Amino acid sequence: METARLLERFLDVIEHDIVPKTAKGVASGNKLFGAAILRKSDLSLIIAETNNETENPLWHGEMHAIKKFFELPEDQRPATKDCVFLTTHEPCSLCLSGITWAGFDNLYYLFTYEDSRDSFAIPYDIQILQSVYAVPDPDREAVHPQRPLYNRENAFFKSRSIGDMLASLDRNHREELLGRLDDLRAAYADLSAVYQRDKGKKGIPLA
Ligand SMILES: [Zn+2]
Repeated sequence: METARLLERFLDVIEHDIVPKTAKGVASGNKLFGAAILRKSDLSLIIAETNNETENPLWHGEMHAIKKFFELPEDQRPATKDCVFLTTHEPCSLCLSGITWAGFDNLYYLFTYEDSRDSFAIPYDIQILQSVYAVPDPDREAVHPQRPLYNRENAFFKSRSIGDMLASLDRNHREELLGRLDDLRAAYADLSAVYQRDKGKKGIPLA
């Protein structure tokens, strides 16, 4: 499918299927991360979910979507290799592993790790990848600062940034979709303000 149509569909799903669930989740004290699983064949939605850490700190948006996906009757869900994995924020180490172990061969994310840290005040993705996983080269004293935090293309999946894909479009498509992206950023800024105002009250370990 043409990149512009793919991106348009992703923004539709985030706006209409994920954000409404996230608004409810955030109102209950959960973080603003969400995810959706679509059929590769026609990009129809199978499941959209949002963070539910107030129930279990492992129910990040992506993990919660995977949990709900496998709770569907077997005849209502395709094989994971036939699905597209869409996530609002670049997945943390837990979710990268969950996506891998569940058998998805792709993921598309809207906001980057740096966005999560700088725009949404959630620094843990980068902190955990650096602190737990980034083992220094024995010949050096420290991890190279420009080293990627994970392999965006690896033996299991290919990870793509919606922002990078958008930047590669021709001007007409790009400007139209950038306008929609601005609206989504504003919606997420509002959700973030609600989460940050109330965080720490629900016992989430890394709030
Ligand atoms: Zn996660």
